[in-house]
Formats: sequence, structure tokens, C-alpha cells
Amino acid sequence: MNTENPFYINGLNFSCKKCSCCCRGEAGFVYLSRNDLANFLAELNMEENFFIEKYCRWVPYYDGNEVLCLKEKDNFDCIFWENGCVVYNARPLQCSSYPFWDFLLKDKKSWDNAAKTCPGMNNGEFHSYEEINKTVKAYRQNIPLKKSRF
Ligand code: SF4
Ligand code: SF4
Repeated sequence: MNTENPFYINGLNFSCKKCSCCCRGEAGFVYLSRNDLANFLAELNMEENFFIEKYCRWVPYYDGNEVLCLKEKDNFDCIFWENGCVVYNARPLQCSSYPFWDFLLKDKKSWDNAAKTCPGMNNGEFHSYEEINKTVKAYRQNIPLKKSRF
């Protein structure tokens, strides 16, 4: 990323169109931090072990740890996708911060490539440089929960 003069210095437009392209049909990992887990438990009024057993899996992470992640259905839809996200208000930060992720903001080419499969990008609500950076920072700090710390 060009940190001196990032391509999004004048802000970007994005509003999720809820097309669900990023929620289903492809294997992936939606990691949960301790905070994401707490939000789910409060929203669904569920006991921790029950929630993890029913909706989560522990998966290997790049740092050698096992971390908490949402399950997928057999067809690779997110466990919480039923004609749309059924936990939208409590969705993990990984979902709510999209597409303001480091590797998509690396340069304009990366951003525009992702926009080919996300109709919300380059459309809709304006997000300032400051707002985008705030989201990026929050996402960086939202570390997936390690099994060893659970
Ligand atoms: S692909 Fe983009 S528009 Fe579609 S659900 Fe995901 S974030 Fe929203
Ligand atoms: S939690 Fe909701 S927004 Fe996130 S991937 Fe699953 S269905 Fe999509």
C-alpha cells in the first residue's frame, strides 16, 4: 500500500447490496474474535459452549494456532445464511468491515478487481479516508480467538 498517498485519500463509495455473494457458495473462513463471540451470545441469548458446538469450528491459522471460525453448510453457504444473513445485527467484524480490508485497499487495481464480484463497491454511500482507516484499524485489532486462550 502507498501509505504516503493511498488511492482512497479522497474516500470511496460502498453500500452493501445484500446480494450474498460473499456469504455463500464458496469455501472460506469467517473468523470470530472474543468480541464477535460476545456479540453473538448477546444477540442470540445463547450459552457459549452451545453456540460454539452448534455454529463454530476450530481451524488452523497462519500463525500455527487453531482459531474460532463459523461453520459452513455442505454447499459452502455460511451457517447463518438463509435467503440472507439471519444474524445481520450481530455479524462478525470480518463481515461488517468488508471491503475495507488491507489487501483490498493495497492499490486501486486490487480494489477494482474485488468490485467485479461485489456490486456494492464503487456505489452508494460515501466513506471518507478517515472513516475507512478507522474501519481498517478496528479489523486489524479484531484478532481471531485462539483455542489455546479459550
Ligand atoms: S458481495 Fe458486496 S454487495 Fe454482495 S453481500 Fe457481499 S458486501 Fe454486500
Ligand atoms: S455471518 Fe452473515 S454476513 Fe457474515 S458470512 Fe455469514 S451470512 Fe454472511
